[in-house]
Amino acid sequence: MKTPALWSAQAHMPSIIDRQIRVVSAQGAYLTTDKGSRLFDGTSSLWYSNIGHGREEMAQVAYEQMRTLDAYHVFGRYTNDRAVELSEKLVDIAPMDNAKVILNSGGSDAIDVALKLARRYWNHIGRKTKTVIISREHSYHGLHAYGTSVAGLDFNREGYGTDSLVSGTERVEKHSTTAFAEAIERIGAENIAAYIAEPILGTGGVHPPQEGYFEEIQKMCRDNEILFIADEVITGFGRTGSMFASTRYGLQPDIVTFAKGVTSGYAALGGIFVAPRLWQPFFERNANAPIYRHGTTYSGHPVTAALALKNLEILEQESLIERSAHLEQVLSNSLSEIESHELVASTRVGGLLGAIELRDIAQAEVITDQLLDLGFISRPLRGNSVQISPPFISTDQEVRSLVEAVRYLLDDIQ
Ligand code: PLP
Repeated sequence: MKTPALWSAQAHMPSIIDRQIRVVSAQGAYLTTDKGSRLFDGTSSLWYSNIGHGREEMAQVAYEQMRTLDAYHVFGRYTNDRAVELSEKLVDIAPMDNAKVILNSGGSDAIDVALKLARRYWNHIGRKTKTVIISREHSYHGLHAYGTSVAGLDFNREGYGTDSLVSGTERVEKHSTTAFAEAIERIGAENIAAYIAEPILGTGGVHPPQEGYFEEIQKMCRDNEILFIADEVITGFGRTGSMFASTRYGLQPDIVTFAKGVTSGYAALGGIFVAPRLWQPFFERNANAPIYRHGTTYSGHPVTAALALKNLEILEQESLIERSAHLEQVLSNSLSEIESHELVASTRVGGLLGAIELRDIAQAEVITDQLLDLGFISRPLRGNSVQISPPFISTDQEVRSLVEAVRYLLDDIQ
């Protein structure tokens, strides 16, 4: 029997071979499939289509940039206008003062670069035993070797022969500051390089932080000289109604990772913000200054950078972050109405990120399949939850309709 050439991501291939959804075009908050279905993009693809699909001005920017400078690397002495402009813009809006920016090709890249830099920094200043990375259970930090190793979703770490591809990773309970304190006690602060967390756990089921959690974690990080890394790959660039969730939740990270919303998905771009104490040794005008040996072929790609710049301009010009904050309220109101439903265990919202956790009698996988027949894309997340994270350009009614569609399907089960 013929099987597809494309090995899909995170897919049980035998189950999906005969039921693939081929997306042929997209406009605004809607996709069209080869079968002619029109689907509301209720997850903004993989949490990134913030300004919506199919924008003419984005296509124009890519076209013009390709005609001027299609690509050139930024290794060593080389740089280019768009990479420089984007980095300056990013530093202006960064959730930390006087940041530097490292650019690469996506969220998993950003995680690798961030975690390696944490270790590289301690090593450089002579604290060579500080190598362990602590993450949270149910966290998702991409699927490169480091992201796989710190993953709090166990199934992403399984099957590689050891518990962790990269040695020196530990996970702690997601809302517990006591668990973090115990881990520090057990491992020893002198062996811990960094703590990494998504401000709102995304793929693990949309879990916003509990009151006071990060405040205490950050204090422990400071007291024990542990770097604090905020993984803002989902939350960055407006998803929480602020440019960054770090600002919304009062975080002072040493490193922030970003991707997705920086281009709204129009090009593959990720990166990190680095706080002064980490970058300063590498910038000292001194022949003995260390080199951070990071870099990927497409770091600072000019077309990608041009698209990011345009995306950030659109966010500002169309007040889309304010729009995201408004839609959070709409989503929150809709979710509070469905929360009392017999088949709903709980609902969660943090920014324009929502989840409806179902009781066992209803299966999130089944509901998300049935939603497709009603014209809505959503996604089953860990913990039998249905993900809702629409584009910022969605209307109030579209957001309400998606939640209403879930209610309609649940009513049918009863
Ligand atoms: N970090 C977080 C919080 C994510 O949600 C993701 C992807 O969903 C990643 C990292 C990895 O990003 P990418 O898939 O672009 O490699």
